[in-house]
Amino acid sequence: MGPQRADLLKKELGIYTFNDLLYHFPFRHIDRTKITPVLSITPVTEYAQVAGVITSIETIGNGPGKRLVASLADKSDEIELVWFQGINWIQKSLAQGNAYLVYGRISFFNGKAQMVHPDMEILTDEKKEGKAVLEPVYPSTEKLKSKGLGGKQIGKLTFTLFNHISASDIKENLPDGLLRQLKIEDRFKAFSHIHFPRTDEEYQQAVKRLKFEELFIAQLRMARLMINRHHFSKGVIFGKVGHYFNTFYSDYLPFELTEAQKRVIREIRNDTGSGKQMNRLLQGDVGSGKTIVAVLIMLLASDNGYQSCLMAPTEILAQQHYASISRLLEGMKVNVALLTGTVKGAERKRIVGELTEGELQILIGTHAVIEEAVQFKNLGIVIIDEQHRFGVEQRARLWQKAKIPPHVLVMTATPIPRTLAMTAYGDLDYSVIDELPPGRQPITTVHRYENARAKVMGFLKAEIAKGRQIYIVFPLIEESAKLDYENLMKGYENVKAYFPEPKYYISMVHGKQPAAQKEQNMRQFVTKEAQILVSTTVIEVGVDVPNATVMVIESAEKFGLSQLHQLRGRVGRGAEKSYCILITGNKLGNDARERIKTMTSTQNGFEIAEKDLELRGPGEIDGTRQSGMLNLKLAHLVKDRPVSELARNMALRVLNDDPELDSAENLRLKEFLQEQKEGISWSKIS
Ligand code: ADP
Ligand code: MG
Repeated sequence: MGPQRADLLKKELGIYTFNDLLYHFPFRHIDRTKITPVLSITPVTEYAQVAGVITSIETIGNGPGKRLVASLADKSDEIELVWFQGINWIQKSLAQGNAYLVYGRISFFNGKAQMVHPDMEILTDEKKEGKAVLEPVYPSTEKLKSKGLGGKQIGKLTFTLFNHISASDIKENLPDGLLRQLKIEDRFKAFSHIHFPRTDEEYQQAVKRLKFEELFIAQLRMARLMINRHHFSKGVIFGKVGHYFNTFYSDYLPFELTEAQKRVIREIRNDTGSGKQMNRLLQGDVGSGKTIVAVLIMLLASDNGYQSCLMAPTEILAQQHYASISRLLEGMKVNVALLTGTVKGAERKRIVGELTEGELQILIGTHAVIEEAVQFKNLGIVIIDEQHRFGVEQRARLWQKAKIPPHVLVMTATPIPRTLAMTAYGDLDYSVIDELPPGRQPITTVHRYENARAKVMGFLKAEIAKGRQIYIVFPLIEESAKLDYENLMKGYENVKAYFPEPKYYISMVHGKQPAAQKEQNMRQFVTKEAQILVSTTVIEVGVDVPNATVMVIESAEKFGLSQLHQLRGRVGRGAEKSYCILITGNKLGNDARERIKTMTSTQNGFEIAEKDLELRGPGEIDGTRQSGMLNLKLAHLVKDRPVSELARNMALRVLNDDPELDSAENLRLKEFLQEQKEGISWSKIS
């Protein structure tokens, strides 16, 4: 093809090479094996292929409504073929009395079946029985279509490519033993058949093979990273439990740790004492007490003469961590500092100075700030809170902060089912706090329709009278940000009308406020000056105000499950009974209804996560992972979970027998991994 179209293919679909083209899979196949008699076409027929003779052609109408209409008759009946564009050209190429093989989407107009812009081919004798192929249709874009590279034309390119290549061009990469054991077909066959199958069975076999390959290779790469790290990486050693840890544990710890917290601390101590670099994912539901684990581990670092830093995704959260950790460590001689975008001038200079001098032991901040210019004297561990907001590249930058890579602990409250976590985060070690601190009362969750808002407000008044505080959250969704913003303001005014000053005070935070203002308003709520906090989801992550007992979520149908769960986790943190009220419009879609039902029936983060995956798929669990690390084109992390688990087990088994992939049988695997390796060295990340 010419340079212009080639350029467009690169830009629009990222197709640069033959290999890219091979990996551009069809999303559907047209079944060309069947010819449908016109008479048997009904309004439920979606697509059909018919064979017949053109009995009439005429143009109808003028101007924009102008169209070309042809009648095609087979032995059973007649169907109308309609064109709105390219009329002159089509009229020239069709001839009355000729026979055609016609394929297209069926629509009904005035009770008669028709096809708009069908595919037409001259009907030859050999085609009369139906072509013995399934014709692929590929994803394309409007721009490409306008240049003659629609979903079918891309198929022609691919077809041409297959005419020029043979099995030696698409070399097998899986060990023979594996192919035999799993009864999967060879690679060349699979690529041929995923594009040009003769039967649906052939197509399914090809998909099976390529999905397995994709997941197996991804798992192998991750497992190798993990094994390499376990075997070869050097890590700083937190060998002793000393004064800081022990003093805090015996004199300052405000509560008994849960068994789960103790177990996780043991796991981390094992890792950090081993001489290898730790890379651990710590999962714990909202409120399970991850912060205290972080504090103890940072004290362990101090005991061994190392600095640590705790990175939070938002300014508010960093400030909260700083405030609560400073409070916990009050009375102990530990140097803690906060570094965020709003810390400037002399204060910033002092902190940066103390860090490089090694006087500061614990740094808390927003990740953007810490990544930037900060240098440590001897950074021993980085703890990243709420990882699902934290990209892979960002973590890579941390690597450069110390000679020996610091340990990394990633904490997340996004509940990911364990099996899925093993796949998506297969290169990380994994800990889970699967137990909430004792004495937590369950949060009563109810669903109310908008027209019951007055009643809800009455309930809120009663709670405020008891001295409690309330969150009211409004959705703010990117695409319709302006509209949502207006809703938020209207909502705010509305709440104000129910709760007039000076008896009540309402604070508001949202993403459009300058950081300083956001902080001030947030603080009004933390200090109980404001009884109500009206906000967008900026408070979603981590904020801790134990006196708040009611979470009202407006337009709850617009939120995803994990978001709702996160928001609900803001209440139920103190001793008082807490409530979550989900307010929705009267009309609810099926999925929204399911989400609300899930929320009112369970508080278990892992159950909710399973449901969430079922409803939504894993795409948003961690965008970076899904697209960057695993780079899955064919397989789906949730729907293909059984294959994914099989692939992981097989990958571990292969590596267990032959860690370096040096055996004759595994050599092709090793070569493939080598070829596939991108410019980035993933082993240096996280
Ligand atoms: P998350 O895991 O969501 O980050 P936090 O660390 O913010 O949870 O802890 C939630 C609340 O539970 C905090 O107020 C914390 O002080 C408290 N907490 C943590 N661990 C325990 C425990 N073992 N016993 C009692 N309260 C605890
Ligand atoms: Mg937290």
